[in-house]
Amino acid sequence: MPGKPTPMMQQYLALKREAGDALLFYRMGDFFELFFEDAKVAAGVLDIALTTRGEHDGEPVPMCGVPVHSAEGYLARLIKGGCRVAIAEQTETPEQAKERAKREGTPVSKALVARDIVRFVTAGTLTEEALLEPRRANLLVAVAPVRDGVGLAACDISTGRMELEECDPQALDAALARLGASEVVAPEDWDAAPPEVIARPRADFRSEDGETRLKNIHGIATLDGLGTFTRPMLAAVAGLIAYLDHAGRGTLPFLLPPVARGSGAHLAMDAATRTSLEILEAQSGGRTGSLIACVDRCSTGAGARQLAEDLAAPLAERGAIEERLASVQHFHADPLLRADLRAVLRQAPDIGRALGRLVAGRGSPRDLGQIRDGLAEARRVRDMLAASSDRPALLARMSDALGGHAALVDHLARALVPSPPTERSQGGFIASGYDHSLDALRETSGNARKAIAALEAKYREETKTPSLKIKHNKVLGYFIEVPAKHGDKLMAADSGFTHRQTMAGAVRFNSVGLHEEASRIAEAGAHALAAEETHFDRLVGEVIDAREAIAATAAALARIDVSAALAERAAEGDWTRPEILDEPCLEVSGGRHPVVEQALAKTGERFVANDCTLGPDDRLWLIGGPNMGGKSTFLRQNALIMLLAQAGSFVPATKARIGLADRLFSRVGASDNLARGRSTFMVEMVETAAILSQATERSFVILDEVGRGTSTYDGMALAWAVVEAVHEQLRCRCLFATHYHELSRLADTCDALSLHHVRAREWKGDLVLLHELARGAADRSYGLSVAKLAGVPAPVIKRAKAVLDKLEKGREATGGLAAGLGELPLFAVTAQMEEAEEDPLHAAVEAIDVDSLSPREALETLYALKAQA
Ligand code: ADP
Repeated sequence: MPGKPTPMMQQYLALKREAGDALLFYRMGDFFELFFEDAKVAAGVLDIALTTRGEHDGEPVPMCGVPVHSAEGYLARLIKGGCRVAIAEQTETPEQAKERAKREGTPVSKALVARDIVRFVTAGTLTEEALLEPRRANLLVAVAPVRDGVGLAACDISTGRMELEECDPQALDAALARLGASEVVAPEDWDAAPPEVIARPRADFRSEDGETRLKNIHGIATLDGLGTFTRPMLAAVAGLIAYLDHAGRGTLPFLLPPVARGSGAHLAMDAATRTSLEILEAQSGGRTGSLIACVDRCSTGAGARQLAEDLAAPLAERGAIEERLASVQHFHADPLLRADLRAVLRQAPDIGRALGRLVAGRGSPRDLGQIRDGLAEARRVRDMLAASSDRPALLARMSDALGGHAALVDHLARALVPSPPTERSQGGFIASGYDHSLDALRETSGNARKAIAALEAKYREETKTPSLKIKHNKVLGYFIEVPAKHGDKLMAADSGFTHRQTMAGAVRFNSVGLHEEASRIAEAGAHALAAEETHFDRLVGEVIDAREAIAATAAALARIDVSAALAERAAEGDWTRPEILDEPCLEVSGGRHPVVEQALAKTGERFVANDCTLGPDDRLWLIGGPNMGGKSTFLRQNALIMLLAQAGSFVPATKARIGLADRLFSRVGASDNLARGRSTFMVEMVETAAILSQATERSFVILDEVGRGTSTYDGMALAWAVVEAVHEQLRCRCLFATHYHELSRLADTCDALSLHHVRAREWKGDLVLLHELARGAADRSYGLSVAKLAGVPAPVIKRAKAVLDKLEKGREATGGLAAGLGELPLFAVTAQMEEAEEDPLHAAVEAIDVDSLSPREALETLYALKAQA
């Protein structure tokens, strides 16, 4: 029969119920212990030993544990592993527990220390420096689906920034993809919730509560001064704050006043576009190979986080973009200022995050030191900027936000030692000279220490034992120790020493004199610690009072860092300031793909720059040419140039005129439906459908081999129809790469469409890819040459050539795959198309076998053709 659970087990089980699906860290002395399933999960993720302890219901209880002093590292790994953790601390000492037992009349021997969950550690609610990545924001997002809209509240509690928005349910995926949250919470009754979302009670998401909580937190009577917030936004805020409340067990982290995000203010990009453009993350997973890795030259973590946000959500308003560009230009034009500024910024600590920890009540003396140093650096940055003439508006505004902390900096500088420790319980962070009574206490304990050293010398002398030592440990405090062989001397009743402990090789004693000095040290030490604690709380209070101004300074530093870093990147890569226009054009001269260019540079290869000249009369480019010829690269480089420009960056080109886009779409055809399964093609079509329903005349679309993921007929038919729809209906700017030659016929009917190809040349039987874009249709596919280049064996190539010849003969005879397509009425247009006329000149050119001509024959042929024309 299983017995009744022990009191400790009962306490554990009650806490575990509260913890829900979070792992319960149950504090036992110097360890956090985990039991049952939690132990198995944690042991697996952490790769630590799983043991058992006692029994429950007749079964051994699985257990594992981590030492409290190194818990942070383990927490970090658990959070990375997708876990959430509830921390149950002892809320009284064993002595207090015994006292309580006495009062309550329960057996003192069985007194159980009270424990309580003090905090939930989750991916979205971290503030610890060790658990956060310096160059990445850490967002918690609450989603509130309300009738036909969805409210989103996003917050980085490490810095307190909060942003609210409302979107259509269809646009939610795109919004979540943009935010890239570490944790998402939503009401439990939301059917459409993605699997990783954490379900919270519906009652947490009431818009009235959101409004009340914001007012209370910021001590205001109305939200009007902060902006216009819709009901769904406020419902999301309510859910967000309720979750923070739950995670912090009633202690809210630092929250700045929320900013409402307007719907048209940004260049919209959906999840598929972000993935395919590899903006913040490469398709292989990490940051390596992504756009941000190639662009980021920020000197601070906060700058890098701001840049990531800028690239994830480029602007769609000309004024705001021009402001950023002007600020980049300012630093671009002044390399000396830039270098000096970046050197100062590199020293600047992350004050935004230090502030977040201090306001959340998890701050340390080191965080205070960071605030002091960071604000002092901000002041230096301000002075540097003030010295330069004609600062652009954005920089002037930012520089205003950098000052105003002189009194606080001065106070912190006087109060703190130069590098305060992270641990505050040991004291030692208040500078000497700041508080005279503290100095006196320190002197007392210092003198006592000296006295102890003197005692040691004296006792050595008196006992004639040079190996006598006065030592200290946690259990005994101060004691006198001599090697065992000298023990007897001190044991004598009249020696003045009292015996305390006999060890294997040593004997330990106490003395009245030592006891006195030790007490003086202990007493002065305790008072000094208490004094430091009081100072700490007061200094933290002062920082908290200035929190909004400090947060504004942190944000301004980050923005300045981004401008200087973009200027640095531009100078490094010879980038240019784009001209931002309202008409729908995209004119790029000498454009490059920044990531590919950088990768090629490493192997000493040169990137071939290419131009793009999309405009109202020529808004759809159909791009053909051999595989590996550079089609994808060209498409993406233009999308990236637009993205960078709208994010306020210079661009990798010699000249760029960019008409503002409202949306950017990028799609890549599934490469192989056999290898990847039909569903990939399905995905490709779903994503393509999204473009057709969402793109506007002001959008920019790149389509790379769309239709490739299915049979030739289906694929070509779809590609054909998509091109027509983009041209006729969406009328947006579009680059379309395809290997279907047949599509070139669309040029005959679509007047704003033009044909282009990436050039290749066959040289001595080998294919040379020039990566150069040229006007006109691609003449042939070079598929076999590419295969040869890739190392397909010669006999196979030869056989393929024979098959190809046969197929091509067949095509000539029947008019090919696209035969008759010209007779189809144009997509969505009723006008009947004219049948393409047979052109004799064209036929004559077709008939020439260039390879068999001698130079002389070639010349004669040219004369003949000229005569026909
Ligand atoms: P496609 O889409 O035509 O198959 P990609 O754009 O994928 O070709 O390019 C294939 C490779 O060619 C790239 O990985 C890159 O190494 C190289 N490449 C592409 N464009 C250029 C360029 N403009 N200059 C130099 N190399 C290039």
